[in-house]
Order: sequence, then structure tokens, then C-alpha cells
Amino acid sequence: MDLAPLIRNVPGFPKPGIQFKDITTLVKNGPAFRSVIDGWRERYAEQRVDAIVGAEARGFMFGAALAYALGLPFVPVRKPGKLPAETLSESYQLEYGTDSLEVHKDALSAGDRVVLIDDLLATGGTMRAVARLVERLGAEIVEIAFVIELPLLNGREQLQGYPVHTLVKFMVE
Ligand code: AMP
Repeated sequence: MDLAPLIRNVPGFPKPGIQFKDITTLVKNGPAFRSVIDGWRERYAEQRVDAIVGAEARGFMFGAALAYALGLPFVPVRKPGKLPAETLSESYQLEYGTDSLEVHKDALSAGDRVVLIDDLLATGGTMRAVARLVERLGAEIVEIAFVIELPLLNGREQLQGYPVHTLVKFMVE
């Protein structure tokens, strides 16, 4: 299915100069949402994968659906202060300043093989922090999958060494 026409472009959100790729218009189309999840399900069903990891918040929509489809555990990586039990934290660089992400310390075990999911790969900073968190828990990354890639932002460079899989590319900065 051609997903690109189902992703809404919102210029200037959340600030001037950004071409925001809105996936709400994709997930409100049932067959399109299902085709994303079914495609990934087929991709990972034949491999040994122990858990799906999703980044807050749009990575939860796709990651939780994929985990359900595969009958696998889902591990949420969240913004600071949201997870109630003991966490590990990883900071990453934003355009201005830093942000951080957290995971529960008991979310994964050493040797677990995981697929990381988010909606969009831009600079790669977010997913690099997620990758570091799961590696600090001793897990091994099978692949990092996104619905959308903005190749002009060179996110694959930040994620060098990890297999990266994306479904739709947009040539915007
Ligand atoms: P980055 O860390 O630069 O790869 O940014 C990826 C994260 O920011 C993802 O969780 C995206 O949801 C969000 N994001 C970054 N740029 C955009 C964009 N142009 N449109 C929609 N979401 C974006």
C-alpha cells in the first residue's frame, strides 16, 4: 500500500521551519494501519525476537500493535518521571538543550533480542538514546524500524551499526 499520501504534512508545527509529518491521518485509516503492522509482523515473525520496544508517544501506537500481532512483550521507553518503578535514564541532544528518556530496570533481561519502533527517523538522536538504554540492560538490537524517514537529516549516521528499516521517505529538512 502507498502510505505516503496518508501522512499529513503540517508546515510550521510545532515551530516555524518544521515540516511536521502527522501520522494520525495514517492510523485513522484502518487498512493502512493494519498494513504497516502486518508488514512488520511478517518481517519479524521468522526471526528470534523477544520483545518490542517503543518510544513515547507515537512509538507506543505502532510498537504496541506490533507486539500484540507477534504475541510478544511490549516495553515502553518514556519521558522523564513517567515510569513508576526503578529506571535507567539516558540524555540526548536536542537542537536547543538536552532531553532524556527512561526505561524500567527490569523491563528486559541480558541477551534479550529486541526490535525498536518509532514513527519517524529525523536526526536519530531519540532512537540512539533508546538503543543505549536497551543495551545498558544487556539486550541486543535486531533492528530499528520506523514508518517514516527524513533522509536529509542523516539519522542513519547516528544509528550506524544498527540495521534500520523504514517504510516511507520524505525529502524534507
Ligand atoms: P530525532 O530524534 O531527530 O530522530 O526525532 C525523532 C522524534 O521526533 C520522533 O519521535 C518523531 O516523532 C519526532 N519528530 C522529529 N521530526 C519530526 C517531523 N518532522 N514530523 C513529525 N515528528 C517528528
